[in-house]
Amino acid sequence: MTQTPIAFISGASRGIGAAIALRLAAGGYDIWLNYHASHGPAQSLREQIEAMGRRCTLLSFDVADEAAVTAALDPLLDQAVPYAFIHNAGITRDGLLPMMGRDSWDQVLNTHLTGFFLMGRLISKAMLSKRQGRIIAIASVSGETGQAGQVNYAAAKAGLIGACKSLARELARRNILVNVVSPGLIATEMIKDLPLDKILPLVPLNRVGTVDEVSGVVEFLLGPAAGYITGQVIGVNGGLYM
Ligand code: NDP
Repeated sequence: MTQTPIAFISGASRGIGAAIALRLAAGGYDIWLNYHASHGPAQSLREQIEAMGRRCTLLSFDVADEAAVTAALDPLLDQAVPYAFIHNAGITRDGLLPMMGRDSWDQVLNTHLTGFFLMGRLISKAMLSKRQGRIIAIASVSGETGQAGQVNYAAAKAGLIGACKSLARELARRNILVNVVSPGLIATEMIKDLPLDKILPLVPLNRVGTVDEVSGVVEFLLGPAAGYITGQVIGVNGGLYM
């Protein structure tokens, strides 16, 4: 009997992460679903995933908290190794650099980049023992082009791109593929305060994207058709950056 593959998704209680969790569950994965504080939405997702006949393990922890990451993942990794790890958890703390507080810098860098380091090293070590796996980080067009008011966020996302390209080189010989999905403007709570009337004219497709348009690319990158793709940054941005 072959084992059901597991996908571990960080920041999956809502938005893009929740869409990834639902799509992968529908595609036959059991889900390890991390989030920070949204217990109600996470519980409701678990019920939806279980209704599909898949297992869903809720993991409420701060991805930037080393002790919490270790306490949550170590016991699970003793029992099973995920086929896929998607680091999606993210926050913004926008502001121009001269006015940016140290906490805004630290929170953003720690969530995106240190979170990837903390979880990625545990999971990649476990994947190495299986000689298979797929790792995907969700970056952002801001990390590719830069964005005024997002020195912290763009630095974190550009850092993720560099980290993933390096990790792709480290793990390729062991049949573990590492890629980046880099969304533009996607309709979630994260962009609810942005002036879309000013931004949309810059998007060739002239609309925001949907969470399903991101989760579909993640599903593709986990599938057999993507077996020769590693170290790549796949933009899902309506043409905002080419
Ligand atoms: P949302 O704000 O809708 O959701 C963010 C998710 O991350 C939530 O599940 C949240 O958990 C979780 N999270 C935040 N901080 C932590 C933490 N410290 N530890 C664990 N979980 C955490 O964001 P989106 O869905 O819009 O964004 C998802 C990813 O996509 C992010 O990395 C973001 O930077 C990226 N992205 C989004 C774009 C967009 O236009 N929406 C564009 C480009 C990139 P909880 O609910 O418990 O707080």
